[in-house]
Amino acid sequence: VSVDDIAYDALLEWIADEVAPYVGDGRVADYIPALAQVPPDRFGMALATVDGHLYGVGDFRERFSLQSISKVFTLALVMAGDAGALRGRVGVEPSGNAFNSLIQLEYERGIPRNPFINAGALVVTDILQSQTGDAAGTVLDFLRTESDDHTITIDGAVAASEAEHGDLNLALAHFMAAYGNIENPVDLTAEHYFRHCSIAMSCAETAMAALFLARHGVRTGGTRLLPVLGAKRVNALMMTCGAYDAAGDFAFRVGLPGKSGVGGGILAVVPGRAALCVWSPALDPHGNSVAGVEALDRFSAATGWSVF
Ligand code: GLN
Repeated sequence: VSVDDIAYDALLEWIADEVAPYVGDGRVADYIPALAQVPPDRFGMALATVDGHLYGVGDFRERFSLQSISKVFTLALVMAGDAGALRGRVGVEPSGNAFNSLIQLEYERGIPRNPFINAGALVVTDILQSQTGDAAGTVLDFLRTESDDHTITIDGAVAASEAEHGDLNLALAHFMAAYGNIENPVDLTAEHYFRHCSIAMSCAETAMAALFLARHGVRTGGTRLLPVLGAKRVNALMMTCGAYDAAGDFAFRVGLPGKSGVGGGILAVVPGRAALCVWSPALDPHGNSVAGVEALDRFSAATGWSVF
C-alpha cells in the first residue's frame, strides 16, 4: 500500500464507526479523583504522516491526560542526552506484571524491568532531572516545540491529585533509592514524574510530537533528536513493553510500537510512515483504552502497516 493510495480521512471515519460500539466500554481510571471525572463517551484519533500532514476524526483536538505516554518522551530525551544513561539502572525486558507493581524490584535489587513501568519511568525521570535540572519542564518544552503549540500545559489539578494519592509511586521510588538507583531526593523525582504524567494534550498534538519516532530520530524542525539506532530502541521498547502486562496482546493484534496511558490515550508509531494517537477514556483491566486498541487493530489490518 503506498501512502498516496489511502484516503486517510475516510479511513479514520470508517474506524470511528467500527469502534463506536466499544466507546465507553470499560472503566475510566479512578485511582485519582481528577481522572475519575473524565466522560467515558469520548473518542478521537489522529494520524500525522512523516511529511507533516495531519488527519483526525472525532474528539482528536480535545486534550486529555497524557499519563504513561509521557514516558516515551522522557525516555527519548534521556537517550538524546546520553545514549548509555540507562545502563545498569533500567532493564529492557517486558515485565508481565502490572505497571505499578513493586514485586519484581526486590528480586532484581532495585533495577526496574523496563522504562515504561512506573518504577522504570521514575528512574528515567531521575536521570533526566540530573541531566537538565528540570525533568518535567524539559518534557513539556519538547512537546510544545514538536507539536508547535505553546498552550500545552501541565494540568495542575491532576498533578496535585497524583501527588496526594502517590503512596505507591513513592514506595517504588523509595525502594529503588534504598538500592542507590534514585540519585535525586525521592520527593523531587516523584514530583517531576507526577508532573510530566499530568501534561494535557490532544491526539493531534501527541501524534505530531511523536513524529520523530516515525522519522528514525529526526525532529519536526529537521534536527536530529536521536540517532537511527536510538529511535529503533525506543520503538522496540514500545513494542515489547508499551502496553504494560498486555504488551503481547497489543503486538499480536496491532503489530506496531505503541504506548498507552491510563488517561485513555494510546500512541502508535509506523516507522518510516506516520505517528498515530487514539483516545477513549474507558480502560480494560490492564489500563489500556478498550476502544483505542480496537481502533489501532482496525487501522493496522486495513492498511497492512504493521511492522511485521
Ligand atoms: N500517573 C500514573 C501512575 O503513576 C501513570 C500510570 C499509567 O498511565 N499507566 O500511576
